[in-house]
Amino acid sequence: MSFRDDGKNIAQVRGKLVHNGQRVSISISEGIITDITPDHAQEKSREENLFIAPGLIDNQVNGYMGIDFTEAGLTVEEIKKVTRALWKKGVTTYLPTLISNSPDRWTQNLKILAGATGDDEIGGSIPGFHLEGPYISPQDGFRGTHDKKWIRKPDWTEFEAFMEASGGHILQITLAPELNGALKFIRKLREKGIIVALGHHNASSEIIGRAVNEGASVATHLGNGCANFIHRHHNPLWPQLADDRLTASIIVDGRHLTNDEVRTFYKAKGAGNLILTSDITKFAGMQPGEYVWDGRKIQLTEDGYIRDVEQDVLAGSALTLDKGLENMTAFTGCPLATSLRMATQNPAKIYGFEDRGVIEEGKRADLILFDFDEGNLSIKQTIVNGNIVYHK
Ligand SMILES: [Zn+2]
Repeated sequence: MSFRDDGKNIAQVRGKLVHNGQRVSISISEGIITDITPDHAQEKSREENLFIAPGLIDNQVNGYMGIDFTEAGLTVEEIKKVTRALWKKGVTTYLPTLISNSPDRWTQNLKILAGATGDDEIGGSIPGFHLEGPYISPQDGFRGTHDKKWIRKPDWTEFEAFMEASGGHILQITLAPELNGALKFIRKLREKGIIVALGHHNASSEIIGRAVNEGASVATHLGNGCANFIHRHHNPLWPQLADDRLTASIIVDGRHLTNDEVRTFYKAKGAGNLILTSDITKFAGMQPGEYVWDGRKIQLTEDGYIRDVEQDVLAGSALTLDKGLENMTAFTGCPLATSLRMATQNPAKIYGFEDRGVIEEGKRADLILFDFDEGNLSIKQTIVNGNIVYHK
């Protein structure tokens, strides 16, 4: 499959392209794809029959394997642990995500996360961060598991302090456009080049339209961050589905959305306007049971359902993005290449990652090699920046 030249650096990777099944040989130099040629070698080992795809990009990772990016005491070592664990799942780029908390907590944790972006080992996988909150709806249901006491109106001075703490690494903020001052806030965020996502909101069609006019471009985990009971005509889902200017991120873990919702969202948005996201939390990879999470009572069920007991809402997911790919393909019947696009090319385009998200000459060698057998995707090798970071 891949041949090492020195250390963990590799010079050549062979595999089958997902969209057309063509076997190729990809040459890599100094972490960059330099050549892609058809591979005409006759004998094929099992390894050479693996599929090859760009590394996955996950825009919402709250934590993983017992580590939570919003909790007190976060360390760079813990961020490394999460990053290495995500590599095993084929995720080569992700946005650590903070959920609503105190200004002090965010400032502290953003500084620690900023340190991780410059780390030699993992920095290449962390281009920046996603802030989910604190400028979201305080209404029960819409706020999800976000603690009401930390939810507040948009505050530019506070946001600038977060931006500074993050070393300028905030790539996206998810907010509620109906809050006082939110539309003006969106305009200012766009002037700074920050991606504005609508989420955990109960905005009207008119407000959603105005937010998009101001530059909002993403609907965060569409269908979630929403009350369990809503008006059949007037609710935040229809206008976000209807507006082609909004790319929707969706959590396809079989829990956050029904199969029917996934199929409907896919038909409404199309392959170019959807992003698969995991929204995984620290509970992903943990033992089922009852936990207390920053003051909230959480239940992790046997079948991987993370529930905020008091609010009776989902508190993020326990399923990594590779499983989301499997599910998307199974639920909609779309080709695997189409699901992959939603976890590679589409997010790369939204966040302006011009160096990754596709397999092309000149792009960074962020690649995954995997088996896809009877709907099961199994990652065999993960390469980031031309380095083998995981090998099964
Ligand atoms: Zn959320």
